[in-house]
Amino acid sequence: MKNKQRPNNRKIISVGQIIGWLAVFAIAVLLFNKPGAKEITLDYSDFKHKVAAAEVSDLTIAPAMISGLYKNEEGKFAPFKTVRMEDPALVQELTAAKVKFKAEQDRSWIGNVLFNVLWIVLLIGLWWFIFIRPQRSDGKSALNFARSKAKMQDPSKQTVTFKDVAGCDEAKEELEDVIKFLKNPKKFQKLGGKLPKGVLLYGAPGTGKTLLAKAVAGEAGVSFFSASASEFVEMFVGVGAARVRDLFDQAKKNSPAIIFIDELDAVGRRRFAGIGGGHDEREQTLNQLLIELDGFESKQGIILMASTNRPDVLDPALIRPGRFDRHISVPAPDLKGREEILKVHAKKVKLGADVDLKQVAKGTPGFVGADLANVINEAAILAARGDKEAVGKPDMEEAIERVIAGPQKKSRIISKHEQHVIAAHESGHTIVARLTNHSDPVHKVTIIPRGQALGYTLQLPLEDKFLTSKSELLDKLCILLAGRAAEEIVFGEITSGASDDLNKTMSYARKMVVELGMSDKLGPVALPNGQDSEVFLGRDLSRHTTFSDELARTIDQEILHLINTSYARAKDIISKNRAAFDKLVSTLLEKEVVEASEIDEILGLKPAVQEDQAQPDASTPIEEKPKAQTAVRPEAKQAGLFD
Ligand code: ADP
Ligand code: ZN
Repeated sequence: MKNKQRPNNRKIISVGQIIGWLAVFAIAVLLFNKPGAKEITLDYSDFKHKVAAAEVSDLTIAPAMISGLYKNEEGKFAPFKTVRMEDPALVQELTAAKVKFKAEQDRSWIGNVLFNVLWIVLLIGLWWFIFIRPQRSDGKSALNFARSKAKMQDPSKQTVTFKDVAGCDEAKEELEDVIKFLKNPKKFQKLGGKLPKGVLLYGAPGTGKTLLAKAVAGEAGVSFFSASASEFVEMFVGVGAARVRDLFDQAKKNSPAIIFIDELDAVGRRRFAGIGGGHDEREQTLNQLLIELDGFESKQGIILMASTNRPDVLDPALIRPGRFDRHISVPAPDLKGREEILKVHAKKVKLGADVDLKQVAKGTPGFVGADLANVINEAAILAARGDKEAVGKPDMEEAIERVIAGPQKKSRIISKHEQHVIAAHESGHTIVARLTNHSDPVHKVTIIPRGQALGYTLQLPLEDKFLTSKSELLDKLCILLAGRAAEEIVFGEITSGASDDLNKTMSYARKMVVELGMSDKLGPVALPNGQDSEVFLGRDLSRHTTFSDELARTIDQEILHLINTSYARAKDIISKNRAAFDKLVSTLLEKEVVEASEIDEILGLKPAVQEDQAQPDASTPIEEKPKAQTAVRPEAKQAGLFD
């Protein structure tokens, strides 16, 4: 989450400001040089003629210049000036012609000095307005763009600890190392601990990444520097890089310390490799960040932490070993996590006896920490507005609705109906995955959103595989399509939720037919396929067909055939096991996460660890023979995720 209370005047100058001040400047110039009525410059000879004809008046005679009025062609008096010449007779002639005249000291001495001083004062004033004034409110006098605007928090004022962060125990556990290291870098090294350097926290906005980083600093008792990556990218090229440098310098002076960079993806996006170049400023900033990352030794007692909700778009160079090489997921909290987070925040308010936080947690699927903090806060405001002693149940309910209706959160928060659809969809994947013979064991299924997915079924393979059989691929197609099949069976309607599944199905089916020779009609042929070739501009233009239209049609037919039969099979499996399926759906809705053992229980299968055949319970009709399932190897590489 971005820090919302950051005052706006922190931004040094915006383009608008500059334009505004330039306008003021221009007006000032115009005022100073205020031209009077048009003044004509006469030749001295003309001037002398006019003196003789008494056609001048009101003269001002300065040492270098004569000015005044002259009679023009229309017979009207108009201003003129002329350069004064050595002419001792002039005064006599003027007196003779009865012309009114006066003498004046030359302005070029004092006048010019004054004039110039005025300009200098004006310029200084302008400079003060633009550069100094906007920063004074910060207590900083820096005229420096290059200064990092990072905020430092003193270890003594560090009040956030792990107690304040709930519902992400795994992330906390992983961060223990970092704390140990920061507390005593030397000892940590002596024990042979591998020094952490950069830690990347990733997860949806509001899941508590910033809070976690702060808590690490709090637990370790070190300084905490935080900056938002988007602040690095300002209007001038090079500023971002200078700020990064400055940030690291500041941190080094205050080590041990944590540097926390929020929204790392703002600078850390994959550098554009194609024609046309990328965003110069952003790239320079990123490069500087990489330089700093490589340049400091973690011995110096500095840990870099960063957060992002798009780890997938980060430049690979950033997450290489030796840089941000520890990746810690900060997921949206599950039911229990939500309850714990509510408890943390409820400490700050007085709760009525009728409020059951567990119940509140149940009613807030999809809420992240920031949302829950918001719920408690809103409820407290509502209670205060009603002059109540404590926050009551109605306040809580109203607050939840307010947070749901809040404009920015709508997309993430899930309605009851949607939750039902997601549960059915995932149950479809799960049941089919469990009941097909050649698929990987189901590890767990959840309807807690993660990344772009609204829920997922996690399968972990028993061993690393190098070969995949046709049966396995057919099962995979069936599992992929089972989500959509389940939606159709339960609701008689399908949703957009399966689009990713469908994409994957298509690419698997295509691969089977075109590359792996697994189609009955085509036989063992592999056909050239431009799809997986390297990405370069104009890829599509260069894709040439080396096979006939006839063959292309057969390929399409075969792909469709594979997909349609798999879909029918998925529907069949679900329908034949409808009772177990429904039970899984309701269990999922209640608990949000269902582990392997419970899935087996619901399906009436023996627990997973058995040797060869886990036999179906005689009472439950199981369409396909369940496969052998052994303990899951957690380190298994190729996890199957079905959104
Ligand atoms: P992120 O950095 O992931 O966007 P923040 O750390 O800024 O999220 O979270 C914003 C606020 O939401 C925190 O200040 C805290 O009040 C609340 N919050 C978020 N996650 C949690 C959590 N796991 N436990 C307690 N409070 C949380
Ligand atoms: Zn799906």
